[in-house]
Amino acid sequence: MNKVYIGLGSNLNNPVEQLEGALNALSNLPEIKELTFSNFYSSKPVGPQDQPNFVNAVALFSTTLTPIALLDTLQSIEQAHNRIRERHWGPRTLDLDILLFNDETLSLPRLTVPHPHMLERGFVIQPLADITPGMLLSNDKTVEEHLHCLNTTDLVCL
Ligand code: ATP
Ligand code: CA
Ligand code: CA
Repeated sequence: MNKVYIGLGSNLNNPVEQLEGALNALSNLPEIKELTFSNFYSSKPVGPQDQPNFVNAVALFSTTLTPIALLDTLQSIEQAHNRIRERHWGPRTLDLDILLFNDETLSLPRLTVPHPHMLERGFVIQPLADITPGMLLSNDKTVEEHLHCLNTTDLVCL
């Protein structure tokens, strides 16, 4: 079984319901087991500021899916939530990113793992600390040590 962390985000059409729907869809898949997830956090958008706040969370599960099969699965859940492709870092009903896949490093045309921006994002690192306290990150800091280096003043636990 592969151990996977994913990031979930939404800032349109009732973001909390979007995240709950995605978690429900994942937990109903036979290839996914032992799903757990963090608190939900709201935060200001990355990039363009003229859009609603985001709600984010991180989920952890085991899966028999390969990395690309998991990406396909996540993208089909995004599509089912009526995600439309728009401007980069613009508003979206659902965004599902693979953060970590075992301890693998992947640089494929469609998939970079670990997620290239995860260490910069308080809305990823805080929920990661919720589900795996003490986790060692790729920069050799624990998730809590790294959290102290990030500005998380706009993060609100829902
Ligand atoms: P960011 O990656 O900065 O969070 P984003 O989530 O807004 O930006 P998207 O438009 O959702 O970016 O995705 C663009 C492409 O990124 C996807 O089609 C996918 O092929 C690719 N991608 C690369 N690495 C990953 C990853 N670790 N998880 C999900 N998608 C990835
Ligand atoms: Ca993203
Ligand atoms: Ca994405």
